[in-house]
This record gives sequence, structure tokens and C-alpha cells, in this order.
Amino acid sequence: MSEERSLNFLEEIVEEDLAAGKNNGRVLTRFPPEPNGYLHIGHAKSICLNFGLAQRYGGQTNLRFDDTNPSKEETEYVDSIKEDVKWLGFNWANEFYASDYFDNLYEFAVGLIKKGLAYVDDSTAEEIASQKGTPTEPGTPNQYRSRSVEENLQLFAEMKDGKYPDGAKVLRAKIDLASPNMLMRDPLMYRIKHTHHHRTGDKWCIYPMYDFAHGESDAIEEITHSVCTLEFVSHRELYNWFIEKLDIFPSKQYEFARLNLNYTVMSKRKLLQLVEEKQVEGWDDPRMPTISGLRRRGYTPASIREFCERIGVAKRENMIDVSLLEFCIREDLNKTAWRRMAVLDPIKMVITNYPEGQTEMLFSENNPEVEGGEGGRELPFSNELWIEREDFMEEPPKKFFRLGVGLMVRLKSAYIVKCESFVKDADGHVTEIHCTYIPESKSQNDTSGIHVKGTIHWVSVPHAKTAEVRLYDRLFKVEDPSNEDGDFKDYINPNSLQVLNNVYIEPDLANAIPGKGYQFMRKGYFTVDKNPAADKLVFNRTVTLKDGWVKK
Ligand code: ATP
Ligand code: MG
Repeated sequence: MSEERSLNFLEEIVEEDLAAGKNNGRVLTRFPPEPNGYLHIGHAKSICLNFGLAQRYGGQTNLRFDDTNPSKEETEYVDSIKEDVKWLGFNWANEFYASDYFDNLYEFAVGLIKKGLAYVDDSTAEEIASQKGTPTEPGTPNQYRSRSVEENLQLFAEMKDGKYPDGAKVLRAKIDLASPNMLMRDPLMYRIKHTHHHRTGDKWCIYPMYDFAHGESDAIEEITHSVCTLEFVSHRELYNWFIEKLDIFPSKQYEFARLNLNYTVMSKRKLLQLVEEKQVEGWDDPRMPTISGLRRRGYTPASIREFCERIGVAKRENMIDVSLLEFCIREDLNKTAWRRMAVLDPIKMVITNYPEGQTEMLFSENNPEVEGGEGGRELPFSNELWIEREDFMEEPPKKFFRLGVGLMVRLKSAYIVKCESFVKDADGHVTEIHCTYIPESKSQNDTSGIHVKGTIHWVSVPHAKTAEVRLYDRLFKVEDPSNEDGDFKDYINPNSLQVLNNVYIEPDLANAIPGKGYQFMRKGYFTVDKNPAADKLVFNRTVTLKDGWVKK
């Protein structure tokens, strides 16, 4: 991470606050997910921002589940969120739930009623909406607005005690029906919902609205800097109003631009649709922009943190190109992935002058990017090899530095071979390539004096293991599927997954470590899929290589 970069606007605010001696030098942020889905890369941005801001100034961050909306929350989501935050490399100071505060919030509401700042309204949702006016016309008060404190206290207690059905009454803040900010026109604080809650069970049948719960939860935890996305700018006035009228800890809200990434969708509602309609394998499908999907795809926590750092903290919405995310994982894996050989589209090469049945063990470094290579592994070599079909051409054009009759290449970490002939089947498909090798050209001990331009990867036929390989492309055909005509699902890329069943891998890859990145030379970065198949190894391609072999 680049520590020398200039401060973002939130860091500037924190530094000003610290310089002014606010909050006794304390910085406490929070990450407040609603447990109604799995976290996505946009949440990663918010996580890195909230945890990063606190870390930088010696502060801490709470993980708070915003579970005020009972019908949607599930424990599965809570567990996945905790796993993802930890995996990204962050530790929260406290794990809290907005539902932990239901008693406090109820008391806060009673306090506002007593001050004449809240009232029970029997109107329907439609009536409330129509009485709210428009941005240019003030709203009109109804008869409930002038209820006495006593009546409001009694009705609110009855709402809590389950005396009324869903939708019969709401509790509203009594603010200003003429406010230019529509959110200040007597916003709802509580609604009746006879629904089981994943933590509080059936204790409550009234639930607080987001705007009443969020700032109050911040204040209860004494959050110093409450960071959220831009759509909450207009909520800030209300956030401050509640805190001021309740005379509780003065948490402050700050807004930044949400992360938008092209060729994907990022709302949990849409991601849920993809899962439920089986457009993808699940929340952790490697094509999903979810943290669990990226993890299964082979992204590392460091690459995601670096991505969030590079996009910075903006005050205006913009669209980030997914190629920046790919750049970050390539950079990381280039430094950490072990090099291996795998042939994705195999064709057989026979080395006619190499003794049949002989095996020679060659050595190849794990990671040439690192001093010492991080050790290495033995590579068995024999007279029959699998090579990539595309590395041979019957009629090679000029400057084709691979194989064709008469052409020479180096087999990576092995010998130089010369193509002598090839065999075709009855349909005219090339089935075998025949080569001779140059015994003096062995890698690291090459005395042949022959210089070749191309190097290709290979796997020894008798030693090869088989694997399934999954190649991924963008999940959507268009940059911003949510912004197109019709349903966003109309723009799903039908070719986002390609499964290769007949892949040969070098034997060492049979011991591939889950969660580790491997570079299949010339083919990209891969990782073992997390769902082990009984009878075969499955590799996911994380990302392609920018280019093929880098010339030494
Ligand atoms: P979605 O719209 O995807 O369902 P959300 O905002 O409803 O997301 P929450 O669980 O409420 O999801 O979000 C938790 C935190 O993550 C909030 O502070 C929210 O502002 C932030 N967040 C969500 N999406 C993004 C994003 N794309 N970029 C940055 N922060 C985000
Ligand atoms: Mg939300």
C-alpha cells in the first residue's frame, strides 16, 4: 500500500478532529451490514475504508449487524459476513446487532413522545404518502398529529404489546411537514410487523426503521465517525435531529461514493435473484462479485485490499473498470503463485530419438520471481508428452515461433526439440506430432549452441494426471446491466463459464494446496476449487496472464 499518497477527505476530517481534541483522541468506526445477503466487492470497499481509517489513527471498528428488518435476515448471512471480514484481514473490536438495542430504541422513542416529538399515526401508507406533499408543496397535517402525549404513550405501548395488526399504526417523528427535505416530513420511526426475528424471536412485533435505528445505534456505541455511501446524504439531517433531540452521544455521519464495477451487478437483491434463479451456482460462484465468489475464484485478500486502496475514496459516483481488479490480482499472484505446467487442449508429441520407457527427473523452480525460487519440484520427462494443440501448425506462417515441420522450440525446463513430421486421422485431424530432441540442449546445462525463440509447456504422458479446468469470463455482456432496457438478467453473458474436461496436469499439481494460487504457465493463474469432486481435481482460472512468456 502506498503510504505516501495524499490524505483522502475522510482522513482529513479525522486529522482535524484529532487536532481539535475531539472525542478525547478516540476514533471508533463501524461496518454495518444488513444480513440479507453475502458481502460483495462494494462492501469490501466499505470494510477497507472503515477498518483502515480506524487502524491508521490507532482506533477500532465495530462489526454491527443492521438486523432491524426481521423478514429477511438469516443466520447463514451473519456467518458468511463474519467469515468474509476476517478473511479480508480485519478484526472487529465488538460484534454487535442493532437488535441488541431494541430496548434502548424503544425507550428513546418513548422519550421523544414525552417531549411531544413523536406521535402514533393510524393512516395507511398511501394516506401518509399523499399527505406528505411534494418537494415544492408542503405536506398537510392529519388529525393524529395533534394527539396528546398520554394518548401516544398508551397507543405506542399497545402497538408493542401486539394489540394491532401489521400496518394498522406507525410511530412518526413530529418534525416539519414543510421541510424542503422530504425525509424530515414526519418520518416513520416504528412499524408493526408480527414477524419472528432471528435473534429476538417473538419478543417484538414493532420494529424500528433504519433512520431511527442507525444513528441511535452509532450513538449507543459512541461511534465517532459513521461512514456511509452517498445515498444517505439527505438522511444526515434526520440522523442529527434524532441525536440532538435525544441528547445522546454525537456520532457524525460522513458520506463517500459507492463502488460501482462494470460488467457486473452489485445489489444484494439482484445477486440473490441470480442465486435463486440458478443463473449461477450460488453466492460463491466464481463469477459473482461477492467476496466469497472472488475467494473461490482465487483472489487473495491482499489483492482486494490493494484494489480498494487504488480506487481511493471519492465523493462522486463513478464506474470502476474490472480490469483494475484483475490487474491487482495479477500483480499479487505474479509474486506468490507457484509455476506449474498444465495442458488445456492436448495433442501428443512423440520424441522419436528418446529411449522408450525411460523417465528422467528434471527440476524446476516454484517461483522464479523470488530469490531462491521458493524451492521447486521434480518434473518427469519421457518420450511422450502432451503439448498444447495451438502450439503446432500444419502450415505455420512466418514468425510462428512454435512447432511446424522443421521448426524448433524449447520445452520448458527440458530440451530443445525439432518437429519432423505429424500424423493425421481419417478425418484429416492432426493426432500426433513427431519430434527429435537435442540431448546437449538440456536447460541449465545447454551446450548445444542452438538458439530458439519459443518456449512451450508440456506434461509427460505416462506421468500426467487429469483435471477439470473452469475458465471464466464476465458474467454480463454489457458494462452496466442495471442501466439497460428490460431486465438486467437479459444481459447475462451465455459464455461466462467454459469447462474443460480433458486437461493434463503435471503430477505435482495433484497435491495443489487449497487457497493457493498457481500459475499454469502461459495459461493464467488458477486455484483448486473449494468443492472437492470425488473423482477429479477441479481448477478455477482466477485470471489470464497479461501476456505469455516474458522474454528473458
Ligand atoms: P446493496 O445495495 O448491495 O444491497 P446495501 O447498502 O444495502 O448494499 P448494507 O448491508 O446495508 O448493503 O451495506 C453495509 C455497508 O456497506 C453500508 O455502510 C453500505 O453503505 C456499504 N456498501 C454497500 N454497497 C457498497 C458499495 N457498492 N460501495 C461501497 N460501500 C458499499
Ligand atoms: Mg442497506
